[in-house]
Amino acid sequence: MAVRHIEKVLIANRGEIAVRIIRTCKEMGIATVAVYSDADLHAPHVLMADEAFNIGPPPSRESYLVIDKIIDVAKRTRATAIHPGYGFLSENADFSKRVAEAGLIFVGPGPESIKTMGDKTEARKLVMKANVPIVPGTPGAIDNIEEARDFCMRHGLPILIKAAAGGGGKGMRVVHKVDDLQSAFNGATSEALSAFGDGRVYIEKYLESPRHIEFQIIADHHGNTIHLGERECSIQRRHQKVIEETPSVIVDEKLRQRMGATAVGAAKACNYHNAGTIEFLVDKNRNFYFLEMNTRLQVEHPITEMRTGVDLVALQLRVAMGERIPFEQEQVSFRGHAIECRIYAEDPSNGFLPSTGRISHLVPSQGPGIREDRGVKQGGEISVYYDPMISKLVAHGGTRNEAISRMKRSLREYEILGVKTNIPFCLFILDHPKFIEGDFDTHFIPMYFKPERLARLSDDEEAAAALVCAMMEDNSLQAQSLSSVGTYVVKDGRVGRGDSTNHAGLTKWKLQRVNNMRS
Ligand code: ADP
Repeated sequence: MAVRHIEKVLIANRGEIAVRIIRTCKEMGIATVAVYSDADLHAPHVLMADEAFNIGPPPSRESYLVIDKIIDVAKRTRATAIHPGYGFLSENADFSKRVAEAGLIFVGPGPESIKTMGDKTEARKLVMKANVPIVPGTPGAIDNIEEARDFCMRHGLPILIKAAAGGGGKGMRVVHKVDDLQSAFNGATSEALSAFGDGRVYIEKYLESPRHIEFQIIADHHGNTIHLGERECSIQRRHQKVIEETPSVIVDEKLRQRMGATAVGAAKACNYHNAGTIEFLVDKNRNFYFLEMNTRLQVEHPITEMRTGVDLVALQLRVAMGERIPFEQEQVSFRGHAIECRIYAEDPSNGFLPSTGRISHLVPSQGPGIREDRGVKQGGEISVYYDPMISKLVAHGGTRNEAISRMKRSLREYEILGVKTNIPFCLFILDHPKFIEGDFDTHFIPMYFKPERLARLSDDEEAAAALVCAMMEDNSLQAQSLSSVGTYVVKDGRVGRGDSTNHAGLTKWKLQRVNNMRS
């Protein structure tokens, strides 16, 4: 394949991933085009890109998911390529095809790979031919409940009914009793239909205490496919990842080589090119089974970057231009340990209810070994329209212990007001003896999480902290206009309790108190 240079990239996404892609483009001297909905006019990705175009109202199906609008902007701005990020249109085979038909480079795999791997039943059939072990299950989608009963008779319970078009943990039902088959089948089918417009479901044996371990791969157009090691993603809530780390404590060099080679084989089986992830479930005896392939950049890709020193977005762009991967498998080196926490605007003390609103104060943490990927800034809104993720905090250290300590320090330092966050929840996990020992599986959260054990700020304390922050930022103006909040009093531009009048001292005390409450 001839090398075709990319001069300008349109990023068909928003939030932290759009910002992250723009950063690498800037480093590579590639011009950038952002697209945005009415809700994102002031978003960081819009301000950072060289050009930005409004593509419609806030709901994503009227903006970020409209293929015609995005290709139209790409043509008008003479972009050479489109990077889809993750989510939205990133795993839409039709989008990849339409981008290529418009004479543009799609920074991702071809439509056929996306299509095959996007259908879990097709993916299972394909990788099985390449001798990749899969979780035992029905060979294809099941048409009726009798087929489900039949499978249970032969393989026993528990089973998992899964959507063939599944993603994001949707359309999945665990069945422990035959009596529950019908309602689980109905539930999974209707959820799959409404989420993916495709109600087909199939059955997998439900592995009781697996770990979710995935491999990052990158493939060029010259027949080279390389893996960049594993990511341990077993810390999940409702089948969604919360904390990821690399390496996994259960993967030794021998297992890494075996799983890595299997992942490369699975990618080759679908003639894959660009970045992708092969997900596996691993049982207690370290047997591993193919779960699915994600044909895009993953949310958790930064931990692989921290540990290998490879910029995955740069590599994606180079491969898309037709360049060869500039290193061999043996040259991939791994350094230290990296952990990522997904910081969400949600209330872990209250059923993880999304917490929308304006971020009134935000001072992120920095310091040794910390990277933050964020697509929203102070004053920005967490809206109902999009995923409520605020930030991805990544800590790198020489050892697992050092990475954990750095992550905990960084979570405690993180100052954010206006929305509730899952920071106390992340700290709860990182402090848990089972997590520290590395002794966990995908059931860690349902098994050990106790919301009542979370550190909480009272409404008074939160309001007082907000006042202190307002005083610091707006030179006391905003604070002076408010006279009292609960037991906290603002007097002469100072916030205090009783006779406390030491502004600087109190401010420091208050912010520290906010942070210490999280420990
Ligand atoms: P999605 O594409 O919706 O994210 P996946 O197939 O990737 O679905 O599975 C998501 C998570 O669900 C896995 O990480 C694991 O925790 C759980 N899971 C999926 N299949 C099985 C299975 N057969 N046995 C046990 N857990 C499973």
